[in-house]
Amino acid sequence: MSRVYNFSAGPAVLPEEVLKEAADEMLDYRGSGMSVMEMSHRSKVYDTIIKEAEADLRDLMDIPDNYKVLFLQGGASQQFAMIPMNLMKKKKAAYIVTGQWAKKAWKEAQIYGEAVAVASSEDKTFSYIPDCSDLDIPEDADYVYICENNTIYGTKYKTLPNTKGHTLVADVSSCFLSEPVDVTKYGIIYGGVQKNIGPAGVVIVIIREDLITGDTLPGTPTMLKYKTHADAQSLYNTPPAYGIYICGKVFKWLKKMGGLKAMKERNEEKAKILYDFLDESKLFKGTVVKEDRSLMNVPFVTGDDALDAKFVAEAKAAGFENLKGHRSVGGMRASIYNAMPKEGVEKLVEFMRAFEQNNA
Ligand SMILES: *Cc1c(COP(=O)(O)O)cnc(C)c1O
Repeated sequence: MSRVYNFSAGPAVLPEEVLKEAADEMLDYRGSGMSVMEMSHRSKVYDTIIKEAEADLRDLMDIPDNYKVLFLQGGASQQFAMIPMNLMKKKKAAYIVTGQWAKKAWKEAQIYGEAVAVASSEDKTFSYIPDCSDLDIPEDADYVYICENNTIYGTKYKTLPNTKGHTLVADVSSCFLSEPVDVTKYGIIYGGVQKNIGPAGVVIVIIREDLITGDTLPGTPTMLKYKTHADAQSLYNTPPAYGIYICGKVFKWLKKMGGLKAMKERNEEKAKILYDFLDESKLFKGTVVKEDRSLMNVPFVTGDDALDAKFVAEAKAAGFENLKGHRSVGGMRASIYNAMPKEGVEKLVEFMRAFEQNNA
């Protein structure tokens, strides 16, 4: 067996310990005589799995009792529609457009009402987070929407926008559980788990209870109402059962690692190794303004497309996978999620240093 250093933006690296444990339990989950993939989601064994997963997540994020945790499907992208369908009662919402995912969410919301872009960083290829301290947010907006960590461009909000009393909705797909958060500042925190938590197919929605009403936009399908899933504790229909089981294991791994405060320190340490090198390198440059750099996704370029391609190819041959930047921006991107060991980042920087010397 040989494992590579996987810098994929998503689906992405998972803790080896978790994968091994899942492999050990594959044929016979703890004496049940079957795999978690094969068991009824209504069984007692599975009930324990999903309840424990929720309890551990609540514990990790310190989620208050007036928030529900939902394990849903459809990916983060389905939330782009589900959010306005459930929340846009006055048919108006404010969007901060900081990248492709925020833009997609903003466009989708336009199907359901007036989605106002109150700020954008598209003028500089989304390389920064706009000043959100005093935005012109419509008085009657139902919510303010952000993408908190921009996976493709490598920016992250270091302070949340001043929503002027409006409900904050955040896509945290690529920074989920990377650091502590104050859940009470949000109405909804959601994310696809395939970036920093588990296998694709699960999206976690943490939603304040007062936002869960039966009063959704006309025509909202039963499956797209938060109330449907909240009332049934994520078991209205068959949930992505195996995926939730793996998420549960990752939650336990995070607790063992010391929780989100410890993860933040670890992530800062890892990111610093790479950013410090980018700042001193004569060949490689980071593409994001320093104040807004993500701890999770680190895009960089040489400024020469042919050299970028050579780097990606040689890195791959040396066991560093998925360093090619997103197709919309080019260059390189190293995603260094929770499960990427510090050693992986150190080795990458060593490799970059050698590449720089050989291509000076
Ligand atoms: C990957 C990603 C998405 C899209 O996720 P899907 O689960 O593929 O729909 C949305 N938002 C962010 C921030 C992402 O990183």
